[in-house]
Amino acid sequence: MSHTIAAVSTGNQVSAIGILRLSGDDCVQIAQQVFQAKSGIPLSHIPARKLTLGVLRDKQNRVIDQCMAVCTPAPHSYTGEDTVEFHCHGSPAVLAAGLEALYQAGARPAQRGEFTKRAFLNGRLELSQAEAVIDLIESETADAAANAAGQVGGALQKKLAPIYHTLTDICSHFHAVLDYPDEEIEDFRLENYAALLRTQAKLLHALLSTYGQGRILRQGVAAAIVGKPNVGKSSLLNALAGYDRAIVTDIPGTTRDTVEESIRIGSTRLRLIDTAGIRETADAVEAMGVERSKAAAENADLVIFVCDGAQPLTQEDRQVIEVCLEAPNAIALINKTDLGQVVLPSDLPFTTILTVCAKSGEGLEQLSQVLDTMFAGNIPCDGSILTNPRQYDAIRRAYEAILAALQGLQLGLTPDAVLTDVEQSMEALGEVTGATVREDITARIFERFCVGK
Ligand code: GDP
Repeated sequence: MSHTIAAVSTGNQVSAIGILRLSGDDCVQIAQQVFQAKSGIPLSHIPARKLTLGVLRDKQNRVIDQCMAVCTPAPHSYTGEDTVEFHCHGSPAVLAAGLEALYQAGARPAQRGEFTKRAFLNGRLELSQAEAVIDLIESETADAAANAAGQVGGALQKKLAPIYHTLTDICSHFHAVLDYPDEEIEDFRLENYAALLRTQAKLLHALLSTYGQGRILRQGVAAAIVGKPNVGKSSLLNALAGYDRAIVTDIPGTTRDTVEESIRIGSTRLRLIDTAGIRETADAVEAMGVERSKAAAENADLVIFVCDGAQPLTQEDRQVIEVCLEAPNAIALINKTDLGQVVLPSDLPFTTILTVCAKSGEGLEQLSQVLDTMFAGNIPCDGSILTNPRQYDAIRRAYEAILAALQGLQLGLTPDAVLTDVEQSMEALGEVTGATVREDITARIFERFCVGK
């Protein structure tokens, strides 16, 4: 018996349509108390999944809205329970009044993610799919959405299920050997299991290696803007962000701390980090900024080197270039070209070099194309990229347990020792699908959701 829950599913803002959602055993009976179909047919007799026009009334019988109702009976609904939705006019006042009427009729407020949690508990989604639902809602680029949509469709599950089955198979053979030591168990050859385990380890390793791309998909490209003071780093950040986020002055070393800004350029989301300029300095406050600058460049997926194109390159520029060459991806921007250009692309050891004017924004449009080629173009957005840190951690543990099992086989350990490692790997994989995950962890996962989902 599940208590009927109700929530606004479309957020608290004015929109063309707003949806009230109900799920639980009594939802049709509760919905019926507040809704009358224009046809006079009670909701309980309206065909499943058919939109029906009617009026929504409050407890005083005042009409709150003219809306459409739709019932989806268990088990073929999102939650796996009976559900009803009211598609109302999207006024927050209408939706609040409608929700209040539903509470008065016996529904209780839904908690964050409770609809999806019920879907998980009723076996409509496994945990990795449920987590992908929130990733899909929160996705900020089309690529991130496509990957999350693939995972809602079960892309991860499809990769992990065969691995899990192979491990189960191995375990059952090992159990047979342990439980019936005197019997000749068919096909029990340790080298066969080693080969099978190696294949599973390879598959898990391939999945784990997508996480770098996954982090970019989820959080955006961490991009550090580096360069000596006064070359136009803050101006660049402001030009890209569209407003004065960083303080721009012509006194070298003004940007005392790192400033972060999340922006979308073409299909790429950048987390831009402005730095205080990489240089050795005696000024204590500035030194702190310089240290942070170095750290920002070191941890960045992309380093954007800026130089003053109207001045010859200095020793300081070269020190910064050294840092850039260590980064996984680097772009050089020759700035201030409106003042004349003495720095030429051939002076810089970068593959990608753009000539820009941060002050007017000239030349920055080429950046979108460069970034798309660098980051957006090569991500297969079908759900095969691992984006979730919790899932990454569990799969890493599953992988390490298989490596331990392999080592055990190599060292000639007894089958029970090897079995323990294989079972540990299965347990870790079960945390991804939800088969073995602890309740408090499940609760934490659904807390990430909004109310109404
Ligand atoms: P930062 O220290 O590297 O962050 O440099 P700022 O962005 O604070 O810029 C330093 C000075 O250079 C400011 O006076 C900016 O207005 C100026 N500046 C930045 N970009 C350009 C540009 O493309 N052309 C010109 N003429 N001046 C610029």
